[in-house]
Amino acid sequence: MPTETVYGLAANALDAQAVVRVFAAKGRPTFDPLIVHVSDAAQAWTVAEPSPRATRLAAACWPGPLTLVLPRRAIVPDVVTSGLDTVGVRCPDHPLALALIRGAGVPLAAPSANLFGRISPTTAEHVREQLGDAVAVVLDGGPCRVGIESTVLLPDPSPIILRPGGLTRERLEEILNEQVAVADNAQRQGALPMASPGMLASHYAPRTPLTLVTGAFPDDTTAAVLSFRGDDLPTRHHAVEVLSGPGDLAEAATRLFAALRRLDGSGATVIHARGVPEEGLGLGINDRLRRAAGLG
Ligand code: AMP
Ligand code: MG
Repeated sequence: MPTETVYGLAANALDAQAVVRVFAAKGRPTFDPLIVHVSDAAQAWTVAEPSPRATRLAAACWPGPLTLVLPRRAIVPDVVTSGLDTVGVRCPDHPLALALIRGAGVPLAAPSANLFGRISPTTAEHVREQLGDAVAVVLDGGPCRVGIESTVLLPDPSPIILRPGGLTRERLEEILNEQVAVADNAQRQGALPMASPGMLASHYAPRTPLTLVTGAFPDDTTAAVLSFRGDDLPTRHHAVEVLSGPGDLAEAATRLFAALRRLDGSGATVIHARGVPEEGLGLGINDRLRRAAGLG
């Protein structure tokens, strides 16, 4: 199913056998919990226990790219949460996703619709390329508007971002009127009994090796270049992608995964990428680039 962040591979979240098939189609290890997608906050509270912060954030941000990690209710099968006593829940901001959830009448567990560890899909065509016959239907809702995954927030006892994503830290602080921390790798792992692959050092990765460049891009006719604004291109290169000429982080996020896929398919020996400013959506973009480089 399309969502505003990336395409998801959806199954009835209350049916353990259906959820197991999602893990199988992706080749995803079962210790990586799925996000449960709901059509509204009322449905969210059937799978998760709300708190004052959660209620406030749901009212302000849903539908939208924010996943809340909350105590789960017994109705949620263990396989969805990888046995955790918490569940990640969010309401996607996409008319087709919302229609699908309402039509199904149940919450839908959905990870990104890519093979495990690989680049997330932002078009229906990306899903067909990677999952093909492994899925029954691909609902084409057009290109994803946000382009990177949701922000995963543990709201209590004090708010901490477990994975930066499509909703900014600044916006969360504005809504909650308090500071929101961003977990470092140790804290991310600590929130989970096992390493959570969405937080693993290598994830969201192209097959071509990717390096993060801080100085000038090297002049190399065999290398692909991923530039933020396009004002720093080397004279020689094999292929180039510019995320946003005007330097707009929202546009850069929307374009990120498709650009990585094109560079991955360009036949370059290496992809040189530059990070973006570490603010707003830049946290999520830089997080994906670091993981694509295997740096975590
Ligand atoms: P994906 O659906 O592929 O975007 O990945 C979902 C990610 O959300 C997981 O890899 C975890 O990092 C995070 N997540 C989901 N549920 C939980 C949870 N109960 N506790 C902590 N993190 C979670
Ligand atoms: Mg994923």
